[in-house]
Amino acid sequence: MVAGTHGNEINGPWLLDQWRQHPNFVDSKGLDVQLAIGNPAACAQGRRYLDRDLNRSFRSDLLERASTVPAEADREMLQALALLQQFGPEGQTPCDLVVDLHSTTSAMGNCLVVYGRRPVDLALAALVQHRLGLPIYLHEADAAQQGFLAERWPCGLVIEVGPVPQNVRRSDIVLQTRLALEALMAAITSVRDGTARYPDQVVIHRHLGSLDVPRRRSGDPDALVHPNLQGRDWQPLKAGDPLFINAESKAAVFEGEDGLIPVFINEAAYAEKAIALSFTKREAWPLPKDWKEALANLLG
Ligand SMILES: [Zn+2]
Repeated sequence: MVAGTHGNEINGPWLLDQWRQHPNFVDSKGLDVQLAIGNPAACAQGRRYLDRDLNRSFRSDLLERASTVPAEADREMLQALALLQQFGPEGQTPCDLVVDLHSTTSAMGNCLVVYGRRPVDLALAALVQHRLGLPIYLHEADAAQQGFLAERWPCGLVIEVGPVPQNVRRSDIVLQTRLALEALMAAITSVRDGTARYPDQVVIHRHLGSLDVPRRRSGDPDALVHPNLQGRDWQPLKAGDPLFINAESKAAVFEGEDGLIPVFINEAAYAEKAIALSFTKREAWPLPKDWKEALANLLG
């Protein structure tokens, strides 16, 4: 269980800290859980990261280079290696599964993030979705965004909760995180004792791409997220819907396919990544038997 992978997302770390002090604060269903702060140095400074985004640092080529020439590695690269040495599949206290707790400034409520299409991740996410009805954001095939922590463990999910500003603690955000975490651990327990009840299908929001705010040649933003779009994460768009508005009240409109669904609208952390929102497509996938078997084999 990792929190504080981003040092300015402080609700997850508070939850872990309280869980350590009060073991009954979170119902772990008897699972053997290791708690870790992802990026303690960034947390101490209230910054997302020091040298580079830790949650984009788990690319095998980067990890290999950092372990070969540690003297030249960024601090986050060394931290990524340290986490793997401690908790990775070959680590000192190896974990089969990682849950990474994040928060967003976007009005997305609770969701699960899955990276790629590993059967074990999708089967587990489907069980949690069946319990809580959470949306699942499937992040894949984005060359600009790779190297996520959750991908380095045999099974890995992110719990994303919002909206909450960076460096602000809120009881409702902690509660939402705890409920998602408990549902996830209950799902794991149900797989282990053979009582898992899977839905017929898993509903995913598949990442298609991202859009930046319009910019001048200097790189400065030339428009704002349109007020009709702000806070409307998960609500389908139609061609012609306004996305951005400039100082002359002129709107830039959505020109994509009807029904695409925006997420991470105006996420504070993504401004530096030149992302004003991402587009997803809602799809319902059947749950093949071998996905469930793969999860049972991993957790059994
Ligand atoms: Zn984060």
